[in-house]
Amino acid sequence: MNNEELVAAAREAAEYSYSPYSNFRVGAVVVSEDGEVVSGANIENAAFPATSCAEATAIAAAASKGVRKMTTVAVACIDATDVDGAYPCGRCRQIMSEFGVETVLVTAGPGSEVREHGFEELLPYGFDL
Ligand SMILES: [Zn+2]
Repeated sequence: MNNEELVAAAREAAEYSYSPYSNFRVGAVVVSEDGEVVSGANIENAAFPATSCAEATAIAAAASKGVRKMTTVAVACIDATDVDGAYPCGRCRQIMSEFGVETVLVTAGPGSEVREHGFEELLPYGFDL
């Protein structure tokens, strides 16, 4: 899948978001080193810290299927048109670092341009044992 197709898949995943508190629907897809694509959406909770970001949901789904190396993560939100990209939060960047993500694609809103970032750009000096 090319970048636009991955972001389209992330937008499709956002349709399954459970976000009654923020109304900010986000979807993500991760690509394994074998080319498998796994999606996820943000899942909110009344106890806000129990909320899971779309990237975390997708990565957990992939890892639960045995994926241990993920090359790309695409993230997209489908409601907000006035935000500057659906960038992963700090927690999600750390989760990505565990699985060797190399490339992160971000976009925001329908029709927004796809931006591509090398992972080192998003989490320089991340924690690693
Ligand atoms: Zn996050």
